[in-house]
Amino acid sequence: MTTKSEQLIAKTEQYGARNYHPLPIVISEAEGVWVKDPEGNRYMDMLSAYSAVNQGHRHPKIIAALKKQADRVTLTSRAFHNDQLGPWYEKVCRLTKKEMALPMNTGAEAVETALKAARRWAYDVKGVPDNQAEIIVCEGNFHGRTLAAVSLSSEPAYKRGFGPLLTGVKIIPYGDIEALKAAITPNTAAFLVEPIQGEAGIRIPPQGFLKAAYDVCKANNVLFIADEIQTGLGRTGKLFACDWEGVVPDMYILGKALGGGVFPISCVVANRDILSVFEPGSHGSTFGGNPLACAVSIAALEVIEEERLTERSLELGEYFLSKLKQIQNDDIKEIRGRGLFIGVELHGPARPYCEALKEQGLLCKETHETVIRFAPPLIITKEELDWAFERIVNVLSRPA
Ligand code: PLP
Repeated sequence: MTTKSEQLIAKTEQYGARNYHPLPIVISEAEGVWVKDPEGNRYMDMLSAYSAVNQGHRHPKIIAALKKQADRVTLTSRAFHNDQLGPWYEKVCRLTKKEMALPMNTGAEAVETALKAARRWAYDVKGVPDNQAEIIVCEGNFHGRTLAAVSLSSEPAYKRGFGPLLTGVKIIPYGDIEALKAAITPNTAAFLVEPIQGEAGIRIPPQGFLKAAYDVCKANNVLFIADEIQTGLGRTGKLFACDWEGVVPDMYILGKALGGGVFPISCVVANRDILSVFEPGSHGSTFGGNPLACAVSIAALEVIEEERLTERSLELGEYFLSKLKQIQNDDIKEIRGRGLFIGVELHGPARPYCEALKEQGLLCKETHETVIRFAPPLIITKEELDWAFERIVNVLSRPA
């Protein structure tokens, strides 16, 4: 007798392209920090869909906004105005203290938008000769899976067989300020950086790097663009991870939790001098700025503010990190994090530990082979973290 989960996994594997390697669990229901499989087994979600579900699964306020808007109008395209986009612009701009936003749907699309904006800005405002604009990025980055985004990557597996890729890209070691200085030329449009590298394994740059990099960019008329798609909106215990060094980037790239894990929406936000490089016809998306996404996003941002999720992340993150650091296991190389964005780096593969944690009722996913990422929804309670900790101790206190 095969279980319902086994049947569903078999179907997924039969018909689906193999571009993911999920843990063998099927989620069919979710609420808050908890998910259930079709057999009724309950698990705690320690991944939050790569930080898209910061507000918790199916947050009542966000679902109410979705339903209300679904009963009115869902899509107009940008050929016409809709009554949710203006209020959403205002909300995002007030939150980020920037003058303009441009909505898209996925993170990678927002990264594309940032690259297009930076290149146009280089030609139209900075005066870089045509087709000479350069973008500087960091080794180990993850900016998404489109061709432009993988062109920025230093990871061979992300790029193999997809060439020819974008040119005009320079990669420097993450956190190396001297390398940034050396890479900048008169043709440099932008430095694009994740303030903490999520997919690379919760890599935190050396203290002072972001501020120093921002200053170097300013001194050279180079845009400082922060990809806060994963780190933004409270995840690291500050509204933006750049806040850890008091840096206000020229442009934020946001996604994931911007839609509360309910509906995809992403954006770039910057001041008028940068985003006014776009005129009608230069960029867009059929679904970008749709009223359903905007209504959901306004509610998602209100939840972050009203429930003080940023402050919760900071307090509970410190608590959880200090507990995790008590665990003794020679397999553990380092435990690091900011807020509820925590990585346990091992000397060997993380996957066996993630599989063992699943057996204990805790859903985590390894990142970059050797790191276990703990990033629960930010609505998690201290008691729930204690529950998780008991299971983590069980698994991590013995070799996999
Ligand atoms: N940038 C960062 C820092 C990310 O973590 C991700 C996704 O994990 C992306 C971009 C891509 O976002 P999406 O998967 O929505 O295209």
